Amino acid sequence: MKITPIGIWGGYPKANSATSSFLIEHEGFYCLIDCGSGVLSSLQNYLPLEKLDAVVISHYHADHIADIGSLQFSRLINFYLGKPAPALPIYGHVQDQDNFDKLTYKEQTVGVAISEDDIIQIGPFEVSFCQTTHPVYCLAMKFSAAGHSIVLTADTEWRDELVDFARGADLLISEANLYEEHVGKAPGHMGGSEAGKLASLSGAKQLVLTHLPLHGQIEEILEATRQSYDGPSEIAEVGKMYEVF
Ligand SMILES: [Zn+2]
Repeated sequence: MKITPIGIWGGYPKANSATSSFLIEHEGFYCLIDCGSGVLSSLQNYLPLEKLDAVVISHYHADHIADIGSLQFSRLINFYLGKPAPALPIYGHVQDQDNFDKLTYKEQTVGVAISEDDIIQIGPFEVSFCQTTHPVYCLAMKFSAAGHSIVLTADTEWRDELVDFARGADLLISEANLYEEHVGKAPGHMGGSEAGKLASLSGAKQLVLTHLPLHGQIEEILEATRQSYDGPSEIAEVGKMYEVF
């Protein structure tokens, strides 16, 4: 499995960049994880849009869905140009029916319901989910293939259930939206020390941080992971291909 950060920011993107999103690939199958602001632009640096096979949405905050409409237009324009493609499946939860319904568009994309109890097959991936703690219903995800796993926390504050969910992950991609002085004070997000604790308690082999704040020195968040995690950790680098095998 290979996974490439498409964007790393929480809330809104820095200039010429995108909010937190990842492209995961195995055996030629490409799945986009979240599709927020700037993602459609950034994604085209790594994959022609028509080669996308599936999309999974963690939750319906704008920094995770803002570019879904543009993605749907890209499919529709290709259809008008005589290049029809099968409807693109977009996986999302149904706790917010209005937003789930918007995942289906003019036979170009089709919403597929997911929940925290599901273990589903998306192309070559077995994908399972875990509810997070966030102001709206949100799902962490585990992608498994060929005996390996990549876990993405999506947006969450500390939640004990994530330790078992991430158990033994070859790669843990954790949100780390908070500087240490804000940990426990801002709802719905974690700091670097908590991301490190999650990696440590779950036995994750590698930690990559995402959903970062636009202010301050984000290296301080990386430093904070090292209070609690001895393994390799880094800030997600847009365009870098992380491989587990
Ligand atoms: Zn977010």
